[in-house]
Amino acid sequence: MDLGIAGRKALVCAASKGLGRGCAEALAREGVAVTILARTESVVRKTAEEIGTMSGRAVQWLACDITTPEGRAAALAACPEPDILVNNAGGPPPGDFREWDRDMWIRAIDANMLTPIELIKATLDGMIAREFGRIVNITSSAVKAPIDILGLSNGARSGLTGFVAGLARKVARHNVTINNLLPGPFDTDRLRGNLEMRAKAARKPVEELRKAQMSANPAGRFGSAAEFGAACAFLCSAQAGYIVGQNVLIDGGGYPGTF
Ligand code: NAD
Repeated sequence: MDLGIAGRKALVCAASKGLGRGCAEALAREGVAVTILARTESVVRKTAEEIGTMSGRAVQWLACDITTPEGRAAALAACPEPDILVNNAGGPPPGDFREWDRDMWIRAIDANMLTPIELIKATLDGMIAREFGRIVNITSSAVKAPIDILGLSNGARSGLTGFVAGLARKVARHNVTINNLLPGPFDTDRLRGNLEMRAKAARKPVEELRKAQMSANPAGRFGSAAEFGAACAFLCSAQAGYIVGQNVLIDGGGYPGTF
């Protein structure tokens, strides 16, 4: 299926690894002119080169922290008028809410709520003027079913979700869509790091925890970044213009509800 977005410009945040990279790869494969960013120069450069080789299309890159005003300014200077924006950043740390002070909350809200809102604010009017725009926010299954130790994530991402629900309906008539992708367990560095931490705490081998978590999922496995990226590319497609303000859960069936 031709997604009808060849030649469009995309800014994909936090994309040197994991889910962001999966999205960048899928978009590049569709002929989109992709700009990726992440914090570590050597890693983001290498990823851009690899995606460029794979897709046969040069991928622009920059090293920045997207949760800072300077980082966002640099990203928008590198890709000033994106047709497609994929919002992503690292998730907040786990813990007990009694340990979290105001600064920790502000950091989580900055990274996982206000950063995407700032980038939407900077790019939305251009998309409206060009009568095409696709914005995808990578959030978390925790928005639908909170994860107890990830209270910072549950809270900050729910704030973004509520905001986007309202805004998406105001811009859809201009062929600009805003949707959220909610990952369940995906086999990325973040998930592997979390598993290692839990294995250490439980004094169990990582592989044992990994197998148990995979077999507890109806699909019997973790998701792959490529699967996630394919869903993102479809939400960014010309054909997806009527998908508006949705929270699309990709979790192998882990969420037990009928809806
Ligand atoms: P990952 O650690 O594998 O990759 C994160 C990427 O983001 C890396 O390229 C890193 O360099 C970049 N990055 C992080 N913070 C950044 C910043 N401030 N500025 C610029 N780049 C930054 O993580 P992932 O598993 O791909 O997760 C992506 C997002 O999805 C995170 O917010 C995570 O919490 C969320 N999530 C992941 C899962 C999962 O199972 N993997 C599940 C639910 C939610």
